Amino acid sequence: MIITCPYCGPRDSSEFVYREEGGRTRPDPASTDQAEWNAYVYDRLNPAGDHDEIWQHAGGCRSHLRIMRNTLTHGISSVALARDHGRPHERRSRETQA
Ligand SMILES: [Zn+2]
Repeated sequence: MIITCPYCGPRDSSEFVYREEGGRTRPDPASTDQAEWNAYVYDRLNPAGDHDEIWQHAGGCRSHLRIMRNTLTHGISSVALARDHGRPHERRSRETQA
């Protein structure tokens, strides 16, 4: 699989590390809602199709990238710097993804 880093250009996926599902919202650190924390820590979408992901170009410029990847074909439809989409944990809540 080839990932096109905005800074480095096309590179083999072995240079990248998957970090997390994109668009997750971390609960308020002061929250004691156990169900909310369990959902944040353990629940994943695991779609068969397009998946919003955060990858890091660990073997290159070390940038965090937000990638839309099809989990069936490994086709990548978009790559952007994650910082252009806000901090990973401050984007959208899991409720909006359902
Ligand atoms: Zn790079």
